[in-house]
Amino acid sequence: MTTRAKGQGQWALGYREPLNPNERMKKDDDGLNVRARVENVYQYTGFAGIDPSDLRGRLRWWGLYTQRKPGIDGGRTAVLEPHELEDEYFMLRVRIDGGQLSLEQLRVIADISVKYARSSADLTDRQNIQLHWIRIEDVPAIWKALEAVGLSTQEACGDVPRVIVGSPVAGISAEELIDPTDVIREIERRFVGNPEFSNLPRKFKSSISWLPDVPYEVNDVAFVGSVHPDHGPGFDLWVGGGLAVNPMLAKRLGVWVPLNEIPEVWAGVIGIFRDYGYRRLRTKARLKFLVNDWGVEKFRDVLENEYLKRKLSDGPPPVLPERPIDHIGAAPQLDGNFYLGVAPVVGRISGEKLHALADILEKHDLHRVRTTAYQKLLVLDIPPAIVDTVAAELDQLGLSSKPSTWRRATMACTGIEYCKLAIVETKATAATLITELESRLGDVDADISININGCPNACARTQVADIGLKGILLGGRPGFQLHLGGGLAVSAGAWAEDTDDPEAVPVGSLGRKLRGLKSTA
Ligand code: SF4
Repeated sequence: MTTRAKGQGQWALGYREPLNPNERMKKDDDGLNVRARVENVYQYTGFAGIDPSDLRGRLRWWGLYTQRKPGIDGGRTAVLEPHELEDEYFMLRVRIDGGQLSLEQLRVIADISVKYARSSADLTDRQNIQLHWIRIEDVPAIWKALEAVGLSTQEACGDVPRVIVGSPVAGISAEELIDPTDVIREIERRFVGNPEFSNLPRKFKSSISWLPDVPYEVNDVAFVGSVHPDHGPGFDLWVGGGLAVNPMLAKRLGVWVPLNEIPEVWAGVIGIFRDYGYRRLRTKARLKFLVNDWGVEKFRDVLENEYLKRKLSDGPPPVLPERPIDHIGAAPQLDGNFYLGVAPVVGRISGEKLHALADILEKHDLHRVRTTAYQKLLVLDIPPAIVDTVAAELDQLGLSSKPSTWRRATMACTGIEYCKLAIVETKATAATLITELESRLGDVDADISININGCPNACARTQVADIGLKGILLGGRPGFQLHLGGGLAVSAGAWAEDTDDPEAVPVGSLGRKLRGLKSTA
């Protein structure tokens, strides 16, 4: 194995001593252990009693981040100390692997939102639901309520395997050849909360979906449906995607993985990340840097020979649709019922709205909802005779199944309202932008995605939208940097770079930057 000139903190090369404060924090105590302190100590001491290394580190392992103190201008984000930026309230992320929610679970999240989160609830672009204004005193009661219905906040944040993104139509789509839901559940059960993978160099994002209806290229590991000429349906494996600073799209390893082998292969990829991932600098600690340095050939070789101890089959790339699939509107399910995809404005919903949505479901004897990786919602299992009725009732709630192009394809991250890293406001800006575009341009028949981000971390995927807006400082003033022409495989039509593989498939493209188009100051 070739060593890098300067040690990068790779465990497999013998660098076990922490090289930065984050690594030290993780070595001192497993992030998962913070739960006991919340239950036994912090819920009684309140915010003031929280150990700083738990407050700004380990609480993430249970989905908790401190939220931004209101009224601090984005120009001061980088100059203030963490304690000056943070409020005594938390953001709490509920992980929803595969985006699958039952009516009962929806009701519990609505209850928690109203009771403990000032009715806040945002659908994230990784299918989670994020609550705000959470007090540490209330966290044990929230965990109890969530866990009673099979939900969790465990490893929703932190240097761990985050939520697994899946197709919102898994198990109900006529186009799907294999439903990987059971495999997602198996990975959740075996590996989430498992100390084997609770100290990674950084976050680890996964997607497992037969249909290419999730943004798989931005994940550290992605399994996408593909049909092998001899073995039949299985999954094509991609590794090393990630946006933020130094964005990179995932690369195909060229292997075909049958459904039942996904957990083992997933564990192999995350194992490589844990053992060989760079731990010296947080900015270089994502899997994409290792994949970029090694190349796909070496990555596949290490995966097969060191981790799986066997060869994987070569496999074909996935077949991609001509247009992006967001599942908005009514569409038939395999069983003859319909699903209805609706678009809240930039994922913003509320506890009251979630309750009202649950009331509609209950009234029509519907029991399943899905979240999407585009901050949208699907209601499943609607009998054909009542599709229009349900659509009209959801529309009354502001959950339109026939949104304009602008509302349908605009996303926004949390931004300055709650996020300590933000430079600019995002959600309200996006809502205003949608209204302006609707009034000035009307609706247009085109796929134009607009992703608005509060800082360069690109949580709402700045670089892969047709129009990406990213909060930056312009001469010390908060403003947006504009990215144009990004897109993922099905929308970008760009072809894999740095490959002469005749089977190379479109892998999307990263938008080009234009500086300073608009200043918010
Ligand atoms: Fe916060 Fe920046 Fe992520 Fe937006 S992109 S949620 S501002 S870290």
